[in-house]
Amino acid sequence: MTTAPYDVLILGAGGVGSSALYQLAQRGVRVAAIDRFQPPHIHGSSHGETRIIRQAYFEHPSYVPLLQRSYELWRELEAASDRSLYHETGLLEIGPADGVVLPGVVRAAEQFQLEIDRLTPAEAAGQFPQFVFPVDHWIVFERRAGYLLVEDCVSTFLDLAQQHGADLIADTEVFAWRRDGNGFCVSTSRGEYRTAKLILAGGAGATQLCAELKVPLRILRKHLHWYAIDDARLRESDGCPCYFFESAGSYFYGFPEIVAGGGLKGAEHSGGDELKSPWDYDHAADEIDQQRIEAFFGRSIPGVSRKSLRHETCLYTVTPDENFLLGLWPGEDRVAVAAGLSGHGFKFAAVLGEALADLIVTGQSLLPLEFLAPDRFAR
Ligand SMILES: Cc1cc2nc3c(=O)[nH]c(=O)nc-3n(C[C@H](O)[C@H](O)[C@H](O)COP(=O)(O)OP(=O)(O)OC[C@H]3O[C@@H](n4cnc5c(N)ncnc54)[C@H](O)[C@@H]3O)c2cc1C
Repeated sequence: MTTAPYDVLILGAGGVGSSALYQLAQRGVRVAAIDRFQPPHIHGSSHGETRIIRQAYFEHPSYVPLLQRSYELWRELEAASDRSLYHETGLLEIGPADGVVLPGVVRAAEQFQLEIDRLTPAEAAGQFPQFVFPVDHWIVFERRAGYLLVEDCVSTFLDLAQQHGADLIADTEVFAWRRDGNGFCVSTSRGEYRTAKLILAGGAGATQLCAELKVPLRILRKHLHWYAIDDARLRESDGCPCYFFESAGSYFYGFPEIVAGGGLKGAEHSGGDELKSPWDYDHAADEIDQQRIEAFFGRSIPGVSRKSLRHETCLYTVTPDENFLLGLWPGEDRVAVAAGLSGHGFKFAAVLGEALADLIVTGQSLLPLEFLAPDRFAR
């Protein structure tokens, strides 16, 4: 327990909390982040080697300005740390013309003049013979897309933040936070901490830390798979891109083999088992999920073998409209929140950290965040 209060305490030091810690430490703010584990770790949402980053955002075009800033910040982080975090492999997106993904990609690209290549199935098969393309689907190749090394990003934020004087209070569970005089008191497994301002970045722990918002957040357990490859063209070093397929209402995505022998990674974005608690769940592989990913590989990436090399579980925290909760706490300018990233938030971690730092220091962000307002479900 500390006696001197912090200017800002961040609850959660995963993708978003570690980024906010770095942003605030750089500005000379006396700041600490508290985490139940020692991040990066396997108990939240920011692990499993890689995360896709892309700009022609099918989910909602309003995310594009945030993404453009995020790209700049990831490159700045690489320069500041001298580490390679973003790999621009490009991204193939495949889906029906009347589906969700491809019409959304094209709409966002048109609205923001983003560069995408629209390919016919024959052109795509010539350029990317590792994949099978349904003849009636739309296909887009987005060059300015690829993957982030997820654990390395979190470690880099934390390392640089600590070099700038921030504290990381790891292996410490937050039980609750409450208003206390001009500031806040946070009760934890190590005692109480005092702070003038708070940032809530608890990932799946938002179900507890942000319960007062009364937004129904669903926690979904998701599976990640790595399979051995029989086709060398599925390696990043041989020019294989990341991929995202929509088919009959299901979504499968993944990454090329990035390290020799490490296997190709694939996962299903749709589906998932709903959990009651983010802390107590089965980390084992699920037979049905495994059958679905293998069937997808058989249909769409036949050079993937049936030899499973690795499996991990990870959590989505999903809002009712699958858009983030981001902004100041309703009626409270000393608390900022980022929660409910709904399974697509890591690519934004850099910009969310900056936005949270701006909100908590100045009360505003220059980015258009209104569509993510935490109180939008109560209006
Ligand atoms: C399988 C999978 C694939 C994904 N793929 C992509 C992708 O390709 N591209 C993309 O952009 N996004 C993707 N995402 C989503 C993205 O990874 C998440 O949106 C992002 O990592 C969430 O970051 P976060 O900081 O909110 O949560 P986390 O990183 O989980 O951080 C929250 C932290 O808060 C801590 N915490 C919570 N409660 C407490 C408490 N009470 N006391 C102390 N500490 C607490 C936790 O220990 C944790 O470290 C994927 C997610 C999963 C699970």
